[in-house]
Amino acid sequence: MKLRVLVLGAGFGGLELSTILSEAIGTELDLTLIDQHDSFYFGYSKLDVMFGRKQPDTVKISYRNVVKPGVRFRQETITAIDPVAKRVTTSDGTYEADVLVVALGANYDLAATPGLAEGGNEYYSFEGAEKLREVLPRFSQGHAVVGVCSAPFKCPPAPSEAALMLHDYLLKRGVRDACTISLIIPFGLPIPPSPDTSKALLKAFEERHIQFIPQRKVRSLDASRKVVSLDDGSELPYNLFLGIPKHVAPEVVLQSGLAENGWIPVDKANLLTKFPNVYAIGDVTSVGTPKAGVFAEGAAKTAAAAIIAAYKGKENTSAYTGAGSCYIEFGEGKVGRVDVDFFSGPKPFGIHHDPSEMLVVDKDHFGSSRKARWFGL
Ligand SMILES: Cc1cc2nc3c(=O)[nH]c(=O)nc-3n(C[C@H](O)[C@H](O)[C@H](O)COP(=O)(O)OP(=O)(O)OC[C@H]3O[C@@H](n4cnc5c(N)ncnc54)[C@H](O)[C@@H]3O)c2cc1C
Repeated sequence: MKLRVLVLGAGFGGLELSTILSEAIGTELDLTLIDQHDSFYFGYSKLDVMFGRKQPDTVKISYRNVVKPGVRFRQETITAIDPVAKRVTTSDGTYEADVLVVALGANYDLAATPGLAEGGNEYYSFEGAEKLREVLPRFSQGHAVVGVCSAPFKCPPAPSEAALMLHDYLLKRGVRDACTISLIIPFGLPIPPSPDTSKALLKAFEERHIQFIPQRKVRSLDASRKVVSLDDGSELPYNLFLGIPKHVAPEVVLQSGLAENGWIPVDKANLLTKFPNVYAIGDVTSVGTPKAGVFAEGAAKTAAAAIIAAYKGKENTSAYTGAGSCYIEFGEGKVGRVDVDFFSGPKPFGIHHDPSEMLVVDKDHFGSSRKARWFGL
């Protein structure tokens, strides 16, 4: 009998899981992959889009290219999930399956930060990054603030990357001396699991005169007074605000009974939720790794191994290590890397790789290898 699988969300996690199941089970698989959008893009391409390094259309990869044995893609919006019946309702109909995998990622709640929508910008959504293509060229003097509004947030290095890339962008336009840059993050160090990567980032901030404000979150923006208020009550003047908005699980997940305290709890060993044969992977979970594509991909591998073992009646021997490599744009045409492992040792640890031009090639390969694997391109 065919294995009926529903994969909700065709991001990092959903694409990797569908690919593995197709490779392992092939035509015995009856997998429906559902996403509201018609195309995929890497999270980091938003940085390329906002700073004008790439055209928005060139970073999108159409889901039409998902052609795999046993897999069909549907562009539909998921409106309800019943984890008991393993039944999903979408804008176009209803689906049922033997196995359900929730990989719906994280959304943004701009309203949670008063003044952000009216007086600031965010670059975490594609639309926000596209809008900044028009905003950034008009910023030529004053104080630019890159600020995190709430934790957890996707890709912990991304605020540091935005500050460093903004420095390069302003330098190239010949206006850097007329501008100051501040970076506000809720941690004591830029990358807490890796003191070495944090040290390299702090050195880069110092060399570029970027003010680093640790252990603070942005509480609100006052567009009329042009001030950013922090969670300790202090204020900073600003002329340009690049925000990382509060993250939330998609509403359909919050309504499904799968979430607790805002995210879906899962068993670390196999990514199973509290409902039998219902898995959750990636940013939508509270598994304990940062919200990043590499960790969503790792979770997909673990969940896929558990699904395949159950289907084949074999023992599942794989375990989620919470390990992954994150590339970090350091500016000046260089990329650094930190290899982080969250679950293998007594505490999370990261191995630092100095920024280099070689790692630019490495990062390109990271993207092109996924494009080939998931889309055959
Ligand atoms: C600026 C920035 C830079 C980043 N850089 C990196 C990086 O260098 N490395 C890295 O590993 N990660 C990076 N990330 C993070 C990375 O993009 C995410 O963590 C990753 O995409 C999470 O994968 P996921 O599969 O959990 O969710 P997603 O990739 O977000 O996929 C979820 C999918 O679910 C779909 N969906 C949601 N709700 C519905 C619904 N109701 N109906 C239908 N479909 C729905 C969405 O359309 C989406 O396609 C970055 C993120 C940002 C914002």
